[in-house]
Amino acid sequence: MIDISKQSVKLDCPECKRSMSVTIKQVADEALIKCNCGQEIQLKDSNGTNKKAIRDINKSFKDLENTFKKLGR
Ligand SMILES: [Zn+2]
Repeated sequence: MIDISKQSVKLDCPECKRSMSVTIKQVADEALIKCNCGQEIQLKDSNGTNKKAIRDINKSFKDLENTFKKLGR
C-alpha cells in the first residue's frame, strides 16, 4: 500500500541554497533537520496541514484499494 508520508519533498537550505529532500512525515512531525553546511532548519507544519493531508490522502488510497479489490472479484 502506498504511504504518502514516505513521499519526499524538495527544500532549499536558506543558508547555502542546497536542495535537500525531506519526507512529508518529517514535515508533519516538525522535525529539526540539518543541512550539510551546518544550518539547522525547523520544519513547520502550519495548522497541521501536512498531518491532515497524510491522513486524507492515505484514506483516499485505502478507498481506492478497496475499490480495486471489489472490481477484482
Ligand atoms: Zn545548507
